[in-house]
Amino acid sequence: MMILTRKMIEIRNILQSVGQSGTLTLPSIVVIGSQSSGKSSVLEAIVGHEFLPKGSNMVTRRPIELTLVNTPNAQAEYGEFPALGLGKITDFTSIQRTLTDLNLAVPEKDCVSDDPIQLTIYSPNVPDLSMIDLPGYIQVAGHDQPPELKQKIADLCDKYIQSPNIILAISAADVDLANSTALRSSRRVDPRGERTIGVITKMDLVSPDRGHDVLTDKKYPLRLGYVGVVSRIPQTSALFSRGSGNITSAILKNEKAYFSAHPNEFGTHSDTSVGVSTLRKKLMNVLEQTMASSLSGTRDAISQELEEATYEFKVQYNDRPLSAESYLAESLDSFKHSFKAFAESFGRPQVREMLKAELDQRVMDILAQRYWNKPIEDLASKPLEMDPLKDLPKADPDSLYWHRKLDASSSTLTKLGIGRLATTVVANALQSHVDQLLSASTFASHPGAHKEITDACNSILNDRFFSTSDQVENCIKPYKFEIEVEDSEWIKGRENVSKVLKEELRACESATKHMQEQIGKRKLKDVMSFIDKVLKGDIVLEGNGAGGAGGFSADLLAKGREGVFLRDRADLIKMRLLAVRSKQCATQKNKYYCPEIFLDVVADKLTSTAVLFLNVELLSEFYYNFPRELDARLGRHLSDEEIERFAREDPRVRRHLDIIRKKELLELALQKIESIRQLDGRSMHRKPDR
Ligand code: GDP
Repeated sequence: MMILTRKMIEIRNILQSVGQSGTLTLPSIVVIGSQSSGKSSVLEAIVGHEFLPKGSNMVTRRPIELTLVNTPNAQAEYGEFPALGLGKITDFTSIQRTLTDLNLAVPEKDCVSDDPIQLTIYSPNVPDLSMIDLPGYIQVAGHDQPPELKQKIADLCDKYIQSPNIILAISAADVDLANSTALRSSRRVDPRGERTIGVITKMDLVSPDRGHDVLTDKKYPLRLGYVGVVSRIPQTSALFSRGSGNITSAILKNEKAYFSAHPNEFGTHSDTSVGVSTLRKKLMNVLEQTMASSLSGTRDAISQELEEATYEFKVQYNDRPLSAESYLAESLDSFKHSFKAFAESFGRPQVREMLKAELDQRVMDILAQRYWNKPIEDLASKPLEMDPLKDLPKADPDSLYWHRKLDASSSTLTKLGIGRLATTVVANALQSHVDQLLSASTFASHPGAHKEITDACNSILNDRFFSTSDQVENCIKPYKFEIEVEDSEWIKGRENVSKVLKEELRACESATKHMQEQIGKRKLKDVMSFIDKVLKGDIVLEGNGAGGAGGFSADLLAKGREGVFLRDRADLIKMRLLAVRSKQCATQKNKYYCPEIFLDVVADKLTSTAVLFLNVELLSEFYYNFPRELDARLGRHLSDEEIERFAREDPRVRRHLDIIRKKELLELALQKIESIRQLDGRSMHRKPDR
């Protein structure tokens, strides 16, 4: 039973998947021979299919690592290119085409490449074997081939025919053995002929006598002997040779017809060994024995690798276990944890503050538009330069004009689209907080999951947006018609708007300062006084100063305008601050004098009402749904591959997972090899079946 080869092939596959095939090589059968020696025909006779690249030009440019796997109970025969992920290929013509393409992909100037093509063939008709097909030796390079080709092929073959590999040296019977490049190469690395099997092809092309002489050659004695074959695919079977028909029986029949016609030379009682079937069996036995003798070496190599992996795992990862699933689960947990902490810190008071600040700005805008517009003849019919205290509003409390103005201002505020505005402000805040949490989390290095979480957040916020904004809008509706103000509200509003005005003033001043630093105090002053003259009409600007004027560039003029605006705005705010703090504005009796305070009170009422509904409709809903949505998207519904892909996005995690996997696979390989050793130990006394 050829258990060992099979198990060793399994082990080799394990080692390959850890990327350890370079350091831990198991013996293989390496097939060498001159071009046209019949090398492909022998391999195809063993496999039972035509699958190797054919053509007048040299087509094998890369080694083909051919693994044959016997699948006793299977019906189908198929091939797989494990590195290409093409899946099972049942059509051998298509395997042939793929091999041709892969070979032709080697650039002409490189001639050959030592990067092997891996091909595994599964079939009930093949033995468990691992073989490597190499480019055929050439005598002289053809006229369209580079001159160094001959040497490159020889070098490539030399690399592969090293110990412990078995050499399958193919020579044609109609060529003198002394001229066989394959045998000459093998002699150099295996001078005593310990691990070379001689295959003599085209036995039908020489007389039986001569054929017999070649097979019993004494000049190149080989311990593993010579096998003579007639492996040409009979013409009659051309029909089968394409696609999926198996050609073995046609070859065997043809071969048998030839050898049995010459029983003296090739019969069972002769001293020669012939036939593809004999060759197959020989290959299996020799490989099995070579594998067996390489067992302990391989075992040592694996345990050394394992020791190194174990050490690395301990030193670099502190023996910390990790799997893709556990990594995802931990990442998700810790993200939800940080989200919870945020949710606890971002409630009604915070939303209220945010919203009020937003409305404060709107109030400032409305005031600027309706009351502070320049010239401010509405509030004081005197030019600005006069004493601001005297410029305080002289509005008559009974004047309809001032009533309307205040009503219009407050209505601008209430009809601003508070529902939409408030919802947008809070939704944006939630979104940007989630973004912040994300970039501080492990998900920062996982673009896929990052997007998934952002999407989850957006989809909940989008879902809630319209109903929340409608609710809020509905609830502030009464304020659009009537606003009643308590005395206490007035006092609070007066305090608050003073603060807001002061801040506004500070903002103006710091903007001015920034400009002074940018272009120089003096220059700014000069360009501002120029603009003042323009505004007074003393100077007329051509084309609005687009090309510069008065010795100032257009850019500088724009700065000057901004400077003038900021100065006037600051003057205005100072004046209004005095007004708000004046006795006149202490109570709401004079509310028409003090639109700033009144509007602040309105803004405050709107805020309180909006916050009430935002809290229920948006915040609570979001805090409840978001973690659940995360679970749904990242927890339960991901496939194993998706989880694996997720975890491996982070190079740190990938390395950690890789070392664990490597360790596990090496342990598995070691276990398998131990069990083979035990098996092998027991069968030591059994005669090997030949
Ligand atoms: P490779 O270049 O070494 O792979 O050689 P091939 O397997 O392509 O064979 C070269 C030529 O020899 C082809 O035309 C084959 O049909 C022919 N050939 C191969 N084996 C035999 C054989 O045993 N007998 C005869 N008569 N021809 C063979």
